[in-house]
Amino acid sequence: MEHFHPIAEPIVLSTTFERAPDGSYPNEFEYSRDDNPNRRHFERSLALLEGGFQAAAFASGSAASMTLFQALSPGDRVIVSEDCYFGVRQMLDRIFSRWGLRVQYVDSTDPVALRRALVEPATLLFVETPGNPRIGITDIRLAAEYAKSAGAVVACDNTVATPSLQRPLDLGCDFVIHSTTKYLSGGDDAMGGAIVAAADSEMWRRIRFSQKQCGCIPSPFASWLTSRSLPTLDLRVTRQSETALALARMLQSHQAIETVLYPLLETYSGYEVASKQMRAGGALMSILIKGAAADAIAVSNKLKLFKCATSFGGPTSLVEHRKSVEGPASKTPETLLRVYVGLERFEDLASDFERALE
Ligand SMILES: *Cc1c(COP(=O)(O)O)cnc(C)c1O
Repeated sequence: MEHFHPIAEPIVLSTTFERAPDGSYPNEFEYSRDDNPNRRHFERSLALLEGGFQAAAFASGSAASMTLFQALSPGDRVIVSEDCYFGVRQMLDRIFSRWGLRVQYVDSTDPVALRRALVEPATLLFVETPGNPRIGITDIRLAAEYAKSAGAVVACDNTVATPSLQRPLDLGCDFVIHSTTKYLSGGDDAMGGAIVAAADSEMWRRIRFSQKQCGCIPSPFASWLTSRSLPTLDLRVTRQSETALALARMLQSHQAIETVLYPLLETYSGYEVASKQMRAGGALMSILIKGAAADAIAVSNKLKLFKCATSFGGPTSLVEHRKSVEGPASKTPETLLRVYVGLERFEDLASDFERALE
């Protein structure tokens, strides 16, 4: 197809590629599980965005995290942000602890707790910042420094910030993890995940081997959909951050709201660290409604532009009562609503909230 010189990327659905008479593969590609043009294009784009050496794409963010943990060995010590994505916790507690990983959760937003956890040797520090849904802000540079002194590699889940706002590899991390289902695909229509490596390493080669051999890979179409959204990532996230900051300020001063957790809100405890390492605050915040769980749920149901649904990163604003999604074991406060600010105008979103909070 290249002889057409297309400007937009063509989709190559073929699962297999023709071999030359001498047995070689003249266009590098052999079989689509190993590698295919659309996946490679996406991986190269993401590696550039994160300033990494290479990237590996997966069928979901969870498949990316799973592959990272699979690259470890029984007995390895793993330190994980307490405020990490709920699914990662489930995976570690219910699968990888049976496989012999020794997992310890730590409040990574607290430098003292982090330092204490990393006095003993560890293999991996897994942080997520901003955290989800409590929007905990971890000092990435400090975390990487502490991890190195414990002999641990550092992986940072950069799903909530995106490389447009935060670049963990520049701050000393070894790996970045993404659920590309969120902002990178940007359309609420393609599942995917990725790991980006800062440099070549034994661990990176294990990850790449698992990707090809175990096959938790995105389809060419999902890879294409995600690549298609990358050119607008910066525009989207910049505009959404402006709207979200304005909304966070408005909600913080509303009498029906106890507090707003948003990285770049001046009154937020994570503000100082967030403003050091993030270019803008992003589009995800959590609000604590005054009253009980039922009051929070009632507000979420009264909103019209904010649809009641999980996930984030697409054009549509969403709201979610996290505690009822995460179940009784979750530490998420029961009056917490996670609010995702989409691409709608601030005025419309603000009046939606004004009405719902009456
Ligand atoms: C959604 C999400 C994941 C899981 O990704 P999936 O694509 O749903 O498997 C992991 N980490 C964070 C921060 C997420 O938001």
